[in-house]
Amino acid sequence: MGLHEHNYWFTTAEFPKTDAARPLPERVDVAVIGAGFTGLSAARTLAKRGAKVAVLETQIIGWGASSRNGGMLLTGMKLGVNKLISMYGRDLSRRMYAASLATIDCVEQIVREEAIDCDFSRCGHLEVACKQKHFDGYARQAEVIAREFNHQLRVVQRHELSAEIGSTIYYGGMVDEVSAGANPARYVAGLGRAALKAGAEIFEHTRVEGLQRESRQGESGWKIATSRGTLWAREVFVGTNGYTGKATPALQKKIIPIGSFIITTEVLTGSAGARTQPAQPHDLRFEELSLLLPAYARPTYVVRRTRRILS
Ligand SMILES: Cc1cc2nc3c(=O)[nH]c(=O)nc-3n(C[C@H](O)[C@H](O)[C@H](O)COP(=O)(O)OP(=O)(O)OC[C@H]3O[C@@H](n4cnc5c(N)ncnc54)[C@H](O)[C@@H]3O)c2cc1C
Repeated sequence: MGLHEHNYWFTTAEFPKTDAARPLPERVDVAVIGAGFTGLSAARTLAKRGAKVAVLETQIIGWGASSRNGGMLLTGMKLGVNKLISMYGRDLSRRMYAASLATIDCVEQIVREEAIDCDFSRCGHLEVACKQKHFDGYARQAEVIAREFNHQLRVVQRHELSAEIGSTIYYGGMVDEVSAGANPARYVAGLGRAALKAGAEIFEHTRVEGLQRESRQGESGWKIATSRGTLWAREVFVGTNGYTGKATPALQKKIIPIGSFIITTEVLTGSAGARTQPAQPHDLRFEELSLLLPAYARPTYVVRRTRRILS
């Protein structure tokens, strides 16, 4: 199969239509920059509380990372628990871990409240060990997570792994039943519809080019220059993620490029499907690979490197 360079998720979702000819409002309570999960969720919440909100998006709703990710809603942090506690202490680590669980509940609640058809499912997730050393750490991690964060994980021995996944190459695994999966493009499209329904206005193809503090009638706020003219907002909410640019230089300084790649396959049928189909419904739609690659790596290079690793 050849390499297709397009956003697969985008082809599965129907996005809300916005009026391209609609002029920008002169004044709003909150201008939200960026129409991804962050911006749209904030816009929905603010508009529901009665604020006049304008979402300004350079491209289109959900164009950024929100429609091109793995769709995995996982518990915990990237850092291992022992490292987490040693860096941040017990109390803050407990709060961070609890927040990771609460975020999944939050998405589930929004999906339910807004009836977003995005295949949200508490399918759990399976982490597998590529080395014996990794597997040896699983039991210790599960014990610390149970003790410190009151959260249960299930360690799966190598000989039991066939009940979870067809592959025999791993040294064992760890299952978290609380994790979830969703189609991110359909979720972000649904968030867009929900923000509009709540009363927020969304302006696509509208790049924010500069922000300047400006008071109006004794009220402090911001004059916002965009590719489609200016508007004034009492508050600005920045949800520009890795695309943060010159309009917010203080934030731009904090962004560093890191390559992150999701490898998908064509739909697996026949014996290949049977091998990867888990007995439990854990999310195995993707094999996520963390490769230490330069941010400028071309997709063809990523695919070649991945093939070498998987073969
Ligand atoms: C390959 C990959 C896989 C991932 N997998 C997962 C996963 O499985 N699970 C998970 O939880 N997270 C995952 N993530 C992370 C997740 O996708 C992001 O954390 C999330 O989408 C961020 O949402 P956001 O709204 O903050 O940003 P985005 O969705 O990136 O939205 C930012 C928006 O801001 C707009 N913008 C930028 N500058 C301006 C401007 N000046 N004016 C107007 N608009 C502007 C951009 O056009 C963009 O649409 C993954 C990310 C990547 C890249």
